[in-house]
Amino acid sequence: MEMFRFVKAADVSQAIAAGAQAKTAQQGAQVRFIAGGTTLLDLMKLNVEKPGQVVDINRLRLDKVEKLADGRLKIGALVRNSDLAHDPAVVKDYAVLSQALLAGASGQLRNMATTGGNLLQRTRCLYFRNEAMACNKREPGSGCSAIEGDNRSLAILGTSKDCIATNPSDMNVALAALEAVIHIQGVKGERAVAIADFFLVPGSTPQRETVLEPGDLITHVTLPAPRANAKQVYLKLRDRASYEFALSSAAVVVEVTGGKVSYARVALGGVGTKPWRSVEAEKVLLHGAAGETHFRAAAEAALKGAKAQSENGFKVELAKRCLTHALVMATG
Ligand code: SF4
Repeated sequence: MEMFRFVKAADVSQAIAAGAQAKTAQQGAQVRFIAGGTTLLDLMKLNVEKPGQVVDINRLRLDKVEKLADGRLKIGALVRNSDLAHDPAVVKDYAVLSQALLAGASGQLRNMATTGGNLLQRTRCLYFRNEAMACNKREPGSGCSAIEGDNRSLAILGTSKDCIATNPSDMNVALAALEAVIHIQGVKGERAVAIADFFLVPGSTPQRETVLEPGDLITHVTLPAPRANAKQVYLKLRDRASYEFALSSAAVVVEVTGGKVSYARVALGGVGTKPWRSVEAEKVLLHGAAGETHFRAAAEAALKGAKAQSENGFKVELAKRCLTHALVMATG
């Protein structure tokens, strides 16, 4: 780990002022905000992250879950994953989010990890975490060791010739299906970004994973008002039953009226370079019969653009079965 300066911010404006010292996105940020530290500390110890300044934001008052007057739910960026998973409003109205959070990591990690940090969770690609290996995400232009290497756990959707890393988060998949909005403050002021626009596919710049600019701080996330009749499921398939990342997962929010699907939001995890909302699957589902045959057709649509690598071809069929089964579970 390299030397760094450590400062504690007392409020959002102090944190943003400290973050403003970050370099441009092209040069790589030199300032990092830290809350739970469950990703950042690991990567600093591995010399993957080398910030010159770390800004502790734990004292910021961003740790509340609140119901807003218009029915939306506001989730502070510092709300811990455990607290969010067990929040009564989340358990009742956004069950897919609670299920996704509880499927991730371990109890100890969930007690530390925050909503904002989970949104920015970095990939588990083993070459990214090994500074001896070529990796375009860690060192732009150096190459991608995974394309010809160990890529069993990596992505089949949204990949490029420069990076095939998977977004590892469970929470982000549920937030994609719930159409969350990410609220950001930076030196240029406040803005809100739909989660569909927040994450970037790697293209030729895999080092840029989100639309955040250096020094931007995520302050909170909002979820739309709950849909009274929506059934929600998060299904995660992995090599072992706990403390493991998804090989494939599916978050579904569906409504059925008169035996037909009248509303559908679908997102996939473990297979995409970002949390993979599938509007293709949603289009197939809408107005179709709420049955397995139709669900399988939606899953085929979701995976139509999949590009398998040398070791992860099994994920194409696994993801189809995962989504189909999640829809069966949700519709009962
Ligand atoms: Fe790096 Fe992405 Fe290639 Fe992994 S897949 S080695 S993160 S460039």
